[in-house]
Amino acid sequence: MVAMNQMTDVAHANMFAFDNSYARLPERFHARLHPTPVADPKLIRINEPLARELGIDPARLASAEGVAVLAGNRVPQGAEPLAMAYAGHQFGNWVPQLGDGRAVLLGEVKGFDIQLKGSGPTPFSRNGDGRAALGPVLREFIVGEAMAALGVPTTRTLAAVTTGERVLRQDGPLPGAVLTRVSKSHVRVGTFEYFGNRGDVEAVKTLADYVIARLYPDVDSYRALLETVIERTAQLVARWQLLGFIHGVMNTDNVSIAGETIDYGPCAFMDRYDPATVFSSIDRGGRYAYGNQPRIAHWNLVRFAQALLPLLGENEQAALASAQEAINAYPGRFEAAYFAGLCLKVGFAQKREGDLELIGELFRHMADGRADFTLTFRHLSDGHDEKLRALFDNAAALDVWLGKWRARLAEETVSPQERAAAMRRVNPLFIPRNHRVEAVIVAAQARGDYAPFDELRAVLAKPFDDQPAFARYADPPQAGEEVTETFCGT
Ligand code: AMP
Ligand code: MG
Repeated sequence: MVAMNQMTDVAHANMFAFDNSYARLPERFHARLHPTPVADPKLIRINEPLARELGIDPARLASAEGVAVLAGNRVPQGAEPLAMAYAGHQFGNWVPQLGDGRAVLLGEVKGFDIQLKGSGPTPFSRNGDGRAALGPVLREFIVGEAMAALGVPTTRTLAAVTTGERVLRQDGPLPGAVLTRVSKSHVRVGTFEYFGNRGDVEAVKTLADYVIARLYPDVDSYRALLETVIERTAQLVARWQLLGFIHGVMNTDNVSIAGETIDYGPCAFMDRYDPATVFSSIDRGGRYAYGNQPRIAHWNLVRFAQALLPLLGENEQAALASAQEAINAYPGRFEAAYFAGLCLKVGFAQKREGDLELIGELFRHMADGRADFTLTFRHLSDGHDEKLRALFDNAAALDVWLGKWRARLAEETVSPQERAAAMRRVNPLFIPRNHRVEAVIVAAQARGDYAPFDELRAVLAKPFDDQPAFARYADPPQAGEEVTETFCGT
């Protein structure tokens, strides 16, 4: 009898242990609504380790009941679904109202937001259909999880499902999908701007208090909140630069207050090193090119500081002075994080005079020689000179540099073995190369074949390990395989 009761309890236990702090904020922070059901939901994949971390039973999530939840066809017990309100600067232009136009926050589990992306129209959809296409959903799944494995702060993917419906995009009707996104919080710079621009100081304060309580409990002032977000963002963008990652759409509505990489759209890792690399088809001016990312983050943080101004001082002058002081620290914070990371990439444990110039010289040779970014540092780590030289159109210039680098390394006290191991821990062999991601999308779209998806995900789960059986995944694209553009038609 007792055993029977226990079984019943388990069977009826909630799938998610929700505690929804954002839903408790004032009504003007969000619009309450249910996801829009889809015709024929089918599970693509569950992220089992992540489900377990969140205390969610992966088998139950993969069951018909779970898939109905992941597709938005069923609202789980304890959820309080809502679309978040926010604004933002898009390509530098102010847009007073954006908001979750195709996403619904189901609720929070263990302090993490559980959000459906592509779950149907909301009051913030403007002209959009509220849906997501399969290709971008798979890209976000792969690239986001690869970032997590690389140790970069990021939103995660809990699951993806197909909808059995088509979505109309510029390249025609495409299969639809819904992604379940997990984040420390989906509050963005644009969330602060939304209220700041309306002169709703009370809401700015409520939001700041919320963020401090949820994300930064040690922060004891609004100025410290600003500094913390500046530091997190500097750290994050430094990590992007060190890995050759291009976000693609660094609008202020895509800048996380939690310091996570968020809103994977036309994002990509660079193959050949070129600071002007742009992937987004809508970024004609190159605003969000690889080499611009640190500057753009600075610009975005100024927008954050501006929204926080009413909380930063007794009067406008004092607030401005405080904000300016915090903002002025950004370049130094970014450079400290970036240069420290660069030194690790080339194996300098103790920093010496002239190191940055020497590293700068390598980057110039990489640009001139059109060398693959990722493999340059990996082959350098492994001491594979011949493989390294083969990456450069100008190997002779590289040889001169290698001589100087080895002379500099001779001043280090760590053993060559230790150095190689340390370099390999920061210089991945495997990144989500665009041509591989595209091949995965094509196989899924054309044939419903997810074997390439699974294999790529498995390889990218261990980006720093040599995986000889999968060596081909480390290869740059061959001529004709290069992907130069990813469409924002997401
Ligand atoms: P993104 O460029 O993906 O960060 O989106 C910018 C804004 O457009 C956000 O407010 C999104 O919610 C909204 N949006 C993007 N795609 C759609 C869509 N298909 N339907 C409705 N809203 C969308
Ligand atoms: Mg966005």
